Amino acid sequence: MAESEEAEALAPPAERREQDLIGLSRKALAAEVAALGEPAFRARQLWQWLYGKGATDFEAMTSLSKTFRAKLAGGYRISRPEVCEALLSKDGTRKWLLQLAGGHRVETVHIPDGERGTLCVSSQVGCTLTCRFCHTGTQRLVRNLTAAEIVGQVLLAKDRFGEWPASRPGRAVTNLVFMGMGEPLYNFENVAEAIHILRDGEGLGISKRKITLSTAGVVPAMQRCGEELGVNLAVSLHAATDEIRDRIVPLNRKYPLAELIAACRDYPGLHNARRITFEYVMLQDVNDSDRDAEGLARLIEGIPAKTNLIPFNPWPGAPYRCSAPERVRRFARILNGAGLAAPVRTPRGQDIMAACGQLKSASERLRRSRRQAA
Ligand code: SAH
Repeated sequence: MAESEEAEALAPPAERREQDLIGLSRKALAAEVAALGEPAFRARQLWQWLYGKGATDFEAMTSLSKTFRAKLAGGYRISRPEVCEALLSKDGTRKWLLQLAGGHRVETVHIPDGERGTLCVSSQVGCTLTCRFCHTGTQRLVRNLTAAEIVGQVLLAKDRFGEWPASRPGRAVTNLVFMGMGEPLYNFENVAEAIHILRDGEGLGISKRKITLSTAGVVPAMQRCGEELGVNLAVSLHAATDEIRDRIVPLNRKYPLAELIAACRDYPGLHNARRITFEYVMLQDVNDSDRDAEGLARLIEGIPAKTNLIPFNPWPGAPYRCSAPERVRRFARILNGAGLAAPVRTPRGQDIMAACGQLKSASERLRRSRRQAA
């Protein structure tokens, strides 16, 4: 597909009649407020109500005049994604299955971890990348999420935890990772718009240091990501040779390792305190030998980086198995020996199918089996 056709196919469905205020940039919000004949400072107040206090009702915006509130209520809405299922794992991980405009479904996962809480957000419905070990890649349906739908996942989590106002020191949502469904760099504009909103100091105020964007390696967008968004980067590497990576991450055929690693070396703002995370899913007898570990260490030598070893999460019909624990430990030791941090990620929320690579697939299967049963 040509890039423009692809963009069109991925476009979300047309907006409802009322304009959603969530997802508008500050500039766009200011334009709406000006069009309503209100002075500029009202836009700032409105922004603070939306993102600082989490207001969802115009009536609650008591610092705004009654007439302004009435004008807003007449033509605008403040959206939240619709939750069709909320699951809580025995380890405290939560998963929300969300229904979006057009009936599409995505998932958001919350992972509590001591003083931290990480929200894992989706950027697309489904994914075009077809990584062989990832279940999301087997779904047919794909569309980009809007900025409102991306920001909405964060607003929803904060609503659920009662973490308002945003300036209140809280710990339910301290970190944000774009590691849910989809490839965020294939939805750059909306992801960027969402990140600008999330970072805004007069609203949610989430620091760029607390935001990590994970990519399978969309090389042409990586520089922009660092320059314009300034967020941490995670790269789903998963192999140290083109031969293996071509097979398991087909995007590698478009942007091979040499180009990907060069883009990582050039990622803006890298230094020892701000490192790239290389994700590496452990697949038995595919990418987990000593040679693979040595090759990986050589490949990323000199890049301020850490590797994150992810035990493969199997799904029904998956063509792979997870490496044995002893193999993972040995792989990690080789990386450590080369001076690389290599923590092994603990799968979280497995009992609610919230772990890496399981998102949405479970709910799709459930829907299918319910349909069959009916
Ligand atoms: N498209 C982006 C972000 C989504 S995937 C990317 O590729 O980075 C988030 C992470 O989960 C990626 O590292 C992905 O490779 C990994 N993953 C996908 N399926 C998995 C599975 N079954 N087991 C373990 N990790 C998986």
